[in-house]
Amino acid sequence: MTTDNKMEKIVALAKRRGFFYLGSDLYGGLANTYDYGPMGVELLRNVKNLWWKTFVTKRADIVGLDASIVSHHKVWEASGHVAGFADAMVDCRNCKLRMRADHLIEDWILQNKDARQTVASGEYLTTEQLDTAFTLEKVEGWSMEQFDEFIKLFGVLCPTCSVKPPQWTSVRKFNLLFPVELGIVEGEGGKAYLRGETAQGMFVNFQNVLNSTRVKLPFGIAQIGKSFRNEITPGNSIFRTIEFEQGEIEYFFDDTKTDWQVLFEKWKESMWDFLTKKLGIAEEHLRWRPHTDEERSFYSKRTEDLEYQFPFGFKELWGLAYRTNYDLKQHQEFSKKDLTYANPQTGEKILPHVIEPALGVTRLVLAVLAEAYREEENRIVLSLPSHLAPVKVAVFPLLPNKPELVAKAREVLEMLQDAVDGKVLWDDRGNIGKRYLSQDEIGTPFCVTVDFQTLEDSMVTIRDRDSAVQERVAISTLGTYFQENLR
Ligand code: ATP
Repeated sequence: MTTDNKMEKIVALAKRRGFFYLGSDLYGGLANTYDYGPMGVELLRNVKNLWWKTFVTKRADIVGLDASIVSHHKVWEASGHVAGFADAMVDCRNCKLRMRADHLIEDWILQNKDARQTVASGEYLTTEQLDTAFTLEKVEGWSMEQFDEFIKLFGVLCPTCSVKPPQWTSVRKFNLLFPVELGIVEGEGGKAYLRGETAQGMFVNFQNVLNSTRVKLPFGIAQIGKSFRNEITPGNSIFRTIEFEQGEIEYFFDDTKTDWQVLFEKWKESMWDFLTKKLGIAEEHLRWRPHTDEERSFYSKRTEDLEYQFPFGFKELWGLAYRTNYDLKQHQEFSKKDLTYANPQTGEKILPHVIEPALGVTRLVLAVLAEAYREEENRIVLSLPSHLAPVKVAVFPLLPNKPELVAKAREVLEMLQDAVDGKVLWDDRGNIGKRYLSQDEIGTPFCVTVDFQTLEDSMVTIRDRDSAVQERVAISTLGTYFQENLR
């Protein structure tokens, strides 16, 4: 299975088995939007619940929040998004392809590693910057002039039409925020934005949370929900979409009392453990990538991306940034409200600093699918950890046209719907072999079959997804069996 091939197969499986479909499919689709189907919605929910449980429910130092998606234009002016949340885009005049300039160049470098020797430096690009770009295959954070210069110096061709000489427009800025006009209010007051990240909700509500709870520094505010970005580069399926879900935490601390470097390392560990221990992602498919100086936001003292090896290469899954107290400072200035925290013992007021772990939850769903996807001789299996599997158990009557088998199997189904924490499905279509294959494709850990023998000995056949091993188990012990085996 080639890597490109693997991505195509995952996307095909996702559509065939109801994980996700192209958005507005009925009308020819709307680029970069996806709808989650019956299996996808369960998987997404399981991933979100696990994140919430790990980082909010089980932590005494983190509280949750669910802020409004439509937000005041001042929020995004203060945060810097209105002025600076922009990608560099470039168009091919010949075939009308529109791409992010950084993606165009990074993809080109990947395929033209040897081209480094052909150019020493340019007017805007130094020798060191070119060396770094070719070594790290990263050019994020460059200026428009630097992108333009690279495309010209190396004669980058359009990946779609390859027209010679290339017909690129100059590189321009393109803001990613979605503006919203609120119908009921006229003028400036009617201007709002769909949030471009969940993070700002935590800063805007910082004082509300302080005033309505008993939190003490250091503490975090966490939120999971939709964010919107007017992305121009077509994404690899759900990897990059214009509407996606994020799970973000703003972890506030007093920088004179807490060593940010120690805290940063602790967060690195928690994120790594979540992916490897709770989601079963192999360590060799993950790596940390520190941001280059050009790429890192000016207010951040340190940023690292936790990258996953998707079928199309190592890409950012989860960002970790020490953002100092830049955001609270900005909101304090723009809102003219006091956002300081008063030390409960001394009364001393400070503006806390923050470390931010920012996860793309829908991107994580793609990683989980890629990690679980296996092809065996005569079947496709999604080896999902059982707590993530959309369906936990499937129940089959051996034959659909034997009322006594169907009645017994229905009894087992109802019993398991009570006993199992998660979805239990019924299937009586086709033969047993086909039903197994169908459940393997959606990652159902166990199938239970009621046969003629069951009517005599009250035992059923349980078949394990990964090993395909079958065993006979008494109906009376099924509850405990699944409590133990679905952990
Ligand atoms: P990228 O460089 O891939 O555009 P980013 O650095 O802009 O991502 P952040 O602003 O740090 O992303 O957002 C945090 C997380 O949100 C990312 O690590 C990623 O997993 C996810 N994310 C960002 N943009 C998208 C998108 N358009 N679609 C899906 N997930 C996204």
